[in-house]
Amino acid sequence: MRNATTVVPDQAIVPDQALVPADAPDTPWINGARLLDRIDRFAEIGGDENGGVTRMGFGPADREARSALVQEAVKAGLEAGIDAGGNVLVRRPDQGAGERPRLLIGSHLDTVANGGRLDGTYGVLAGLEVLQTLHETGTETSHEIVVAAFANEEGALFPQPFWGSMVLAGRLDALPEDPRDYTGAPLREALALTGGDLSRLDTAVWAPGSLAGYLEIHVEQGPVLERLGKPIGVVDSITGRTQLKVEVRGAAGHAGTTPMKGRRDPLVTASQIVLTVRQLAEEQRLCRVATVGRLDVSPNSPNTIAQSVQFDVDLRDSTPHGLAAAEETLRGTLAALAHQGGVEVTAEATIRTAPVLTDRRLRAAVTRSAEELGLAHETLPSGAGHDAQVIADIAPVGMIFVPSTGGVSHVPEEHTAPEDLVTGVDVLLRTVLGL
Ligand SMILES: [Zn+2]
Repeated sequence: MRNATTVVPDQAIVPDQALVPADAPDTPWINGARLLDRIDRFAEIGGDENGGVTRMGFGPADREARSALVQEAVKAGLEAGIDAGGNVLVRRPDQGAGERPRLLIGSHLDTVANGGRLDGTYGVLAGLEVLQTLHETGTETSHEIVVAAFANEEGALFPQPFWGSMVLAGRLDALPEDPRDYTGAPLREALALTGGDLSRLDTAVWAPGSLAGYLEIHVEQGPVLERLGKPIGVVDSITGRTQLKVEVRGAAGHAGTTPMKGRRDPLVTASQIVLTVRQLAEEQRLCRVATVGRLDVSPNSPNTIAQSVQFDVDLRDSTPHGLAAAEETLRGTLAALAHQGGVEVTAEATIRTAPVLTDRRLRAAVTRSAEELGLAHETLPSGAGHDAQVIADIAPVGMIFVPSTGGVSHVPEEHTAPEDLVTGVDVLLRTVLGL
């Protein structure tokens, strides 16, 4: 399914004017054809043969995409700059920096390996389209609007996801001292190539209170909106996440000569843990979802009882108590299964991301905008992480979702109907103007 390449004329996708209330004729419409064309062109940067996109944060294709964004912004008469963290920030030249409360719109241009063409890129190009529309139409706004392409949200190459938004939100203490990517290359150099500066990250921090709000539009990456047939999702929370690194240690042995009785087989215990993890969400309903996606078996030989197994447990929920209850229950079960299997089990938390609630006022503004356009909407949580959850440390945040065909994301098949992409950005524009 690679059909978003057709450019739909924007007249065809502007909602019925009759649905717009009488006080709205001043509200401009975004240029849908221009938006879709940009999405197509950005999909070619780091484009894979199978239709996916590989643009890992701070890699060459990612750098090309940020340059393309800067060029698009400048061509549109906007100003673009890069902060020390490598975030691209776009502003209107005629809106006097610092005179009005700032409203940030953003997402990210980097992708996972062989990811989709929309993911964060849609949110960045949506922000650009909104800003360009406001600029072209000379529309005054009560906020100074800044569009951000946050650096390295995915963390596919350099293992610090949400890098750019963390820098902006001042969460520098959480970053390693001499960060390196998975190949061992220092981030300092890669960051310098993008125009950032590792020694001056403090200059990229926005103080709490310096930002009136943050808005992010994103593909849902799940099946809810498509199943309901609703074009707009109003995100009420971004899921929290606990990731545990679990290691099970037993005793390796010959598969043919070691009797069954007395074996200390860590892979058997690991398998029981995998099933337990699923039950945490499915039967016990302690958290929303619980997953083991990877097992690392050592020595991983078909005729040897394993010596050790390592894996990660991923728990997600919209509430802190759900995450805590799931982890506590899991830890209790780990101890019991270790005892039963005669193996040692250790579990160490590697990620703890608190769930984030979106701002009530921003949710109401998104809802109102959808209703002005006569669009059906649904309030739903985000199951994936987003830059918005980091920016929530320093400002109220709001998120808009558009449907994902088949609910899939981070794969070449990632797709959203062109009219839904355009409609979402019109809702974003109205939300910005309605605040
Ligand atoms: Zn994303």
